[in-house]
Amino acid sequence: MPAQIISGTEIRKTILSELQTEVAHLKAEHGQVPGLVTILVGADPASMSYVTSKIKTAKDLGFKEVQENRDPDISEADLLALVESYNRDDSIHGILVQLPLPKHIDDQKILMAIDPDKDVDGFHPVNAGRLMIGGDAVKFPPCTPAGIQELIVRAGVETSGAEAVVVGRSNIVGKPIANLLFAKGPGGNATVTVAHTRTKDLAEHCRRADILVVAAGVPDLVKPAWIKPGACVIDVGVNRVGEKVSEKTGKTIAILKGDVDFEKAKEIAGSITPVPGGVGPMTITMLMRNTLNSLKYRIGLL
Ligand code: NAD
Repeated sequence: MPAQIISGTEIRKTILSELQTEVAHLKAEHGQVPGLVTILVGADPASMSYVTSKIKTAKDLGFKEVQENRDPDISEADLLALVESYNRDDSIHGILVQLPLPKHIDDQKILMAIDPDKDVDGFHPVNAGRLMIGGDAVKFPPCTPAGIQELIVRAGVETSGAEAVVVGRSNIVGKPIANLLFAKGPGGNATVTVAHTRTKDLAEHCRRADILVVAAGVPDLVKPAWIKPGACVIDVGVNRVGEKVSEKTGKTIAILKGDVDFEKAKEIAGSITPVPGGVGPMTITMLMRNTLNSLKYRIGLL
């Protein structure tokens, strides 16, 4: 039987509608809306496109959205001062600095300057520590891993006691999703293996997985024969493998492929995410949830 297709596009719509209801409620009951500042340095087309989507989503939800665009020659000191000014601004609950930053700026220094209680990307070491501790300590899980966990839970896949295998050990995907999956609590309690480039028999590890999360950035790395029948497969990989002309817009667009051979894998897996339209749409959605939660922490609702 072909797999259930876990549509990030559809789940995103549901979550955004839930968030919109919450924003309206917070406004009516507490007279406050979540505030997000997006800081963009320079005009890298990919960064501009990400920031534009974040701004649009925030505005559609009824957030206060402040856009700070700076020339690429801004000094590190000026950028630090800008971040600091939003750390002090009570109407702002989330500060997002779009990466990458120009070479003369130390991006770690900038990310470290963000108040951890406004770090809605979840990249500050304080939030990495909170994630490691788990439970109520977790404030802002990084957005892509939080989105992956949400997809698994909303697809009705049982994580408790499941064998989960994560391929990839990056700080933004592999490590945090492993943490979320083995943490005590809903959407957790799995037994997690993290595989990486030095893993001896990747195929064997994948074959054991009830939940297989692949975040390697290697097209078709995971072969259909490595998938356990009925497994939940989350393909995080986004690989540009060519270009095509869009039927909708007539523009040239990238052909994207995941880390799993989707067409063959969907005949074996129990559920699977497509690329695009799987994990991708969840990242900004979780950024919005983190920003909303930041306001709720501030006013004592969480
Ligand atoms: P990364 O390059 O930082 O990490 C890749 C990890 O995969 C490394 O830990 C490496 O050890 C492992 N790996 C690479 N090749 C491997 C192999 N042959 N066998 C076993 N392990 C291998 O990448 P990342 O930032 O974690 O991103 C991974 C993929 O996810 C990329 O394709 C990226 O574009 C995509 N991504 C998507 C989203 C999204 O959809 N929103 C967000 C972040 C990343």
